[in-house]
Amino acid sequence: MTISSKLPAIGSSIFSQMSELALQQQAINLSQGFPDFAASPLLIDALARFSRDGLNQYAPMPGILALRQQIADVVYSCYQRQLNPDTEITLTSGATAALFVAIQALVRPGDEVIVFDPAYDSYAPAVHLAGGRCVHLNLTAPDFNPDWQQVADSINARTRLIIVNSPHNPTATVFTANDWQQLSQLVCQHGLYCLSDEVYEHMVFDGAPQLSANKLPELAERTVVVSSFGKTFHVTGWKLGYAVAPAALMAEFRKIHQYVTFSCFTPAQHAIAEMLAQQRHQVSGLAAFYQQKRDGFVSLLASSRFGLLHSTGTYFQLADYSAISDEPDLAFCQRLAIEHKVAAIPLSVFYKQAPAQQRLIRFCFAKTPDTLQQAAQRLCQL
Ligand code: PMP
Ligand code: GLN
Repeated sequence: MTISSKLPAIGSSIFSQMSELALQQQAINLSQGFPDFAASPLLIDALARFSRDGLNQYAPMPGILALRQQIADVVYSCYQRQLNPDTEITLTSGATAALFVAIQALVRPGDEVIVFDPAYDSYAPAVHLAGGRCVHLNLTAPDFNPDWQQVADSINARTRLIIVNSPHNPTATVFTANDWQQLSQLVCQHGLYCLSDEVYEHMVFDGAPQLSANKLPELAERTVVVSSFGKTFHVTGWKLGYAVAPAALMAEFRKIHQYVTFSCFTPAQHAIAEMLAQQRHQVSGLAAFYQQKRDGFVSLLASSRFGLLHSTGTYFQLADYSAISDEPDLAFCQRLAIEHKVAAIPLSVFYKQAPAQQRLIRFCFAKTPDTLQQAAQRLCQL
């Protein structure tokens, strides 16, 4: 049967490909971003307890109120933004579903959406399915700073949405206060919307301020902010995320959310709500926790031939392998997994048009000290 595909150019994601290769090759998997250590036993016990206590039926469509109240508290304490949990917060099946729903709610056929490449892989297909068109602007190494004049020059009557992601996957860079200001100015001046993917919001290093679209009231009025408990509580497989938006925007978001998943896994919502109420220090301690891992990994690789870029946020580390090989990055990553038994992610797959001479790969350092040590030992032999 020949199916006329709605996404003819899309195959399985680089994360699936590299994790499969790692498994097949029994390589250390520093490719797909997930921790290889356990979540808090308190969280796991809470999940089991809430399920045993019978909280196994549909949650309310926007999520249980106790969790929405906790999210409002976190947003207030991190960004001093007051949210109405009834109308401005919705729980979703991971940040992935929040991003997809927000894009379907905002993008109409013929609209243009500005994205910065390298871009997380789920944005462009969702824009395409909504009938929109992505306008890709390249960020360049080593700083990957957006060029706001170029953004301004790319805005026209069809522009509807700007998608941003800070802390940024895959480059591990973070927007400055000036970036947020410039973004806010353009969005407000041109009556655009913003989708702000902040799944790594609690992982900002070296004492840099934790900034967010939530901190700029004018921008926040036109923005859907997305985050994920998978990252914050080391449970990526629970697929629990959320979206925050002003009531009118959130009403449009919920119209679609209710037909995508309707509601999310109930016991996990109760367990996370309890963690946020009783163990909030796990959230505020996350940056120090991951900064220590970053520093450990960087010092283990000090004697390698990889050139390490600075990681200011997320749990990723970029490495330049041009001193080792001039292979394209996908081929290099495949060989790294097969011959050296370490899996990583090539950067070029996150671009529509990757810079020709760029030789960068991404490692995930959300791993135990043992895993990082073994991986570094292998990487230092290249
Ligand atoms: N956005 C970014 C930038 C991500 O890195 C990820 C996952 N790693 C997601 C969204 C999706 O998050 P979730 O697993 O909660 O769906
Ligand atoms: N976001 C994770 C990463 O960047 C992967 C998520 C996925 O596998 N889709 O590695």
